[in-house]
Amino acid sequence: MSQLIFVATCDLAGKVRGKAFPAADLERRLKCGVGWTPTNVQINCFDGIADGPFGSLGDLLLIPEEFLDVTADFGTHVERLMLGNIVNLDGEPWALCTRALLESALNRLEHVGGIRLLAAFEHEFQLRNGSGLVGEGFGRAGFEAQRRLCETLISQIESAGIKPDSIMKEYGSDQYEVVTGPKEGLRAADEAVILRELTRSTARAHGEAATFTPIRDPAGVGNGVHIHMSFLNPDDSPATYDEDGPGGMSDLTSAFAAGVLKYLDSILALTAPSVVSYLRLTPHRWSAAYNNLGFRDREASLRICPVTAKDPRAIAKQFNIEYRAADAAACPYLALAAVVHAGCQGIEEKLVAPEPTEEDLSLLSPEALAERGFIRLPETLEAALERFETNRTVTGWFPDSFADVYCAHKASEITHLSEMDTKARCAAYEATY
Ligand code: GLU
Ligand code: MG
Repeated sequence: MSQLIFVATCDLAGKVRGKAFPAADLERRLKCGVGWTPTNVQINCFDGIADGPFGSLGDLLLIPEEFLDVTADFGTHVERLMLGNIVNLDGEPWALCTRALLESALNRLEHVGGIRLLAAFEHEFQLRNGSGLVGEGFGRAGFEAQRRLCETLISQIESAGIKPDSIMKEYGSDQYEVVTGPKEGLRAADEAVILRELTRSTARAHGEAATFTPIRDPAGVGNGVHIHMSFLNPDDSPATYDEDGPGGMSDLTSAFAAGVLKYLDSILALTAPSVVSYLRLTPHRWSAAYNNLGFRDREASLRICPVTAKDPRAIAKQFNIEYRAADAAACPYLALAAVVHAGCQGIEEKLVAPEPTEEDLSLLSPEALAERGFIRLPETLEAALERFETNRTVTGWFPDSFADVYCAHKASEITHLSEMDTKARCAAYEATY
């Protein structure tokens, strides 16, 4: 049987789309890729096509990256996936290729901060068929019910060259969480894409269906994506920690964090980009509702994480901050690009992070919040898109056409759901993510 390789991009909708070709043609395809169409960028997560500037015109290539080649052998069948870059016919990166957008954010970070990013992703997902067991938040029975699935997933992750950290039965019903180790920026986002696909494939191979939807049921918990970030100097020494800095942050970390907080309301449409994302981003869900920096506080959008190391050098290596206002409706390249750009902006503007909070901000009145410089984050996708679209600084981080294309894309997704109630919207996202 001819083996097929599926070469894919992770697009504006956070969907992994591409085409397959015979493995025997790989050498040729590494040079010429497969044909791709500009308007594909306007296919929303429900397969509607938004208005866009391209129409039926234009041609692109989706070229597989040799080192992003994943073979998942499930015994009964083998799935081979390669991630790639979208380029123009002359081989130059296409302006709206999400991987290229992240690359340019990471280049900016090196340029303005002289640092490189290390990132580690935590992913929460739910099994749609599930065991239905109750009382199993972090429970052993909940874990054992899916031990084989978890073990297959970890094996697949390892075979893909990704370092697993841990896997657990999360708090929500049929909810699991898988955590992978830190990698440099672009690779970290590549691995997030691969991890989601391996999770979906593994679930299928076990007769299950995994969903990464931001929230299945407003009465239940959400599925978050938490992005841990730390920085490296050019000599690879850690640049994140300063024992005398506030909460342990170096000046660079403080400026980066301050930039993320300042622009958070305007980047949310890129990191929490579905209509139901905003059901998750409400107080007391351990997600993110305000633009606050928390010291070991899971209700913070940006959290200073604990360290277990004891000696200063090990602490400096382990120290990291965590962005919690993301979910898996977001393309990892785009979400990370938005956060990195916001951080770069903070470095450029020489911002200083506010005092980390260790309290419940939902108890404060709007006046008290405002006095302390906090805002409630946008509460709908429409509101988040408005903040994005009207913030010239933020849209300026991206190529000229990006903001218009992205907002039209999201508008078509919103229209698709306009006649549905909350339950139907949750069901629609659960099915597509
Ligand atoms: N499920 C929560 C979220 O939506 C996160 C819970 C946790 O801290 O792991 O982000
Ligand atoms: Mg979790």
